[in-house]
Amino acid sequence: MKKLLIVLILTVALISCQKDLKADTEQADLIITNAKVAVMDSHRTITEAIAVKDGKILKTGSTEEILKLKSDSTQSIDAKGRTVIPGLNDSHLHLTRGGRFYNAELRWDGVKTLKRALDMLKEQAERTPEGQWVRVIGGWSPFQFEEKRFPTPAEINEATGDVPTFVLYLYSRGWLNQAGLEALGIDENTQAPEGSSFEKGPDGKLTGVLLAEPNPGILYARIGSLPPLSKAEMVNGTQQFYRELNRLGITSGIDAGGGGHKFPKDYIGTQELAEAGEMPIRLSYYLFPQNQGEEYAEFQQWMANNKVGHNGDIHLEHGYELQGGGEFLVWSAGDFENFLAPQPMLENRPTWRADLKKVLTLHAEHGWPFRIHATYGETIAHILDVIEEVDQETKGKLTANRWLFDHAETVQDEELKRIQALNGGIAIQARMAYAGEYFVERYGADKAKQAPPVKKMMAMGIPVGAGTDGTRVASYNPWPALYWLVTGQTVGGLPLAESANQLTREEALHLYTQGSAWMSKEENVKGTLENGMYADFAILSDDYFTIPEQQIKNLKSVLTVVAGKVVYGDDEFKALNPPLPAVIPNWSPVKYYGGYQTE
Ligand SMILES: [Zn+2]
Repeated sequence: MKKLLIVLILTVALISCQKDLKADTEQADLIITNAKVAVMDSHRTITEAIAVKDGKILKTGSTEEILKLKSDSTQSIDAKGRTVIPGLNDSHLHLTRGGRFYNAELRWDGVKTLKRALDMLKEQAERTPEGQWVRVIGGWSPFQFEEKRFPTPAEINEATGDVPTFVLYLYSRGWLNQAGLEALGIDENTQAPEGSSFEKGPDGKLTGVLLAEPNPGILYARIGSLPPLSKAEMVNGTQQFYRELNRLGITSGIDAGGGGHKFPKDYIGTQELAEAGEMPIRLSYYLFPQNQGEEYAEFQQWMANNKVGHNGDIHLEHGYELQGGGEFLVWSAGDFENFLAPQPMLENRPTWRADLKKVLTLHAEHGWPFRIHATYGETIAHILDVIEEVDQETKGKLTANRWLFDHAETVQDEELKRIQALNGGIAIQARMAYAGEYFVERYGADKAKQAPPVKKMMAMGIPVGAGTDGTRVASYNPWPALYWLVTGQTVGGLPLAESANQLTREEALHLYTQGSAWMSKEENVKGTLENGMYADFAILSDDYFTIPEQQIKNLKSVLTVVAGKVVYGDDEFKALNPPLPAVIPNWSPVKYYGGYQTE
């Protein structure tokens, strides 16, 4: 027995030093030197340099050590002391839909004053051609503006004149200008779907404001009725959007599907890039049923025609990979995320339990992982009843696959224990950073202190991933989200989370890298810069670990690498920035303003 143990220890030691020996002798394809490299391993190692081989991390260490792996063909980049982190991974972002609409949408993300926002609206209206619309589709908060308020219908009409315009604030409310109301044939007699309304002024006339109370169907319908872009423009928009994500240090994202976004038809932008082997980020996607009452049939069809784990990108591992079902499994179990309206209660809906049970059973039978949207603790408690029931009936087959809740802003301890008992994960997003002021108004500051209870989830050992839920109910920019996790404040500066629920910078970064990788079963291949992991990383514009907290919001990447290849370069690395086609159509707001704004 003792002999066997000695042999075992010797073998393990031999293998690891062979690994190091191999790493020490191999020639690197790419090296980064003179950096502050956050490896993000369990020891939170900080080192100086990285060597990359075949798209994977060959070795990290001192600049001197790594230079030994340099050959004549090695690409060598001097980071000049800048900080390097593992690539950011947003585990709940509506990427494929975001890319599809990117070139049509004017972004108020990051805009500092309402005056500037309205000026952009005016400028965009002047360049918008006949038949097209000016549209601002979420991603902003009125509290990010100095004026700390919404635009008025009068201000929007004055800025846009007779160019049809739609402005959306999260999934809470929208503004149609007069030209937009006319273009859509909406007047005082138009009926709003149940749980929503067309606001009327004291004169009984429509103001143009659309209110989700809380049903956002009235908003989805408007977005869906806006003129589409051409296929070429959607492909180009997807390229521009993914470049924008790379610009912010994102190397992976997990797509949560989305309303008004049919699979596979509306995924064309990303599909084309993947088939061409041009994906600049690793994208896993979950499928979201589009039609209430037909979800079971939609999943049956998807499960019959698609394979979980199928990677659609010919060059990039996990480049465009089907992951499972969600974030909505059935519409009748959806509780939205509108803190400007009362919380929807599932018990008021007659069919949700039967609907959900059928679809979950189908996932168990087909071995499909699933994720499910739930903002409120009460919803989570109800949904857990069904998950436990189906899991029992299928003898554990349901939770044998990866599964997770999304959002969970007001989840309670009891439900956390039940999630843990079923090996579930939780993906949290910075939605409170864009709507926290309204949450506090409705539920009080006390309840906001632990909304969501991220630290508690981590302390219980529940797998937690971080993200934004961009592009509509928050901006897709990861840095305001990391700022929210670390400071507990909204983008408007309102303190929400109590200090016990604020994360250290390392903890927040861990959730936004390896934590998120768990949501697509990839925590063993990416999220840290340990040997053998994917060579996905970003050199930052400033040192995330030491700058004042307020500046975390403004960080970006100056060099982003995916699978060992540079996908974005700026500042002193501008020459390495891969070419990108010009933005089309030529009236696209992206051509004039780009994406996330800094003024
Ligand atoms: Zn959601």
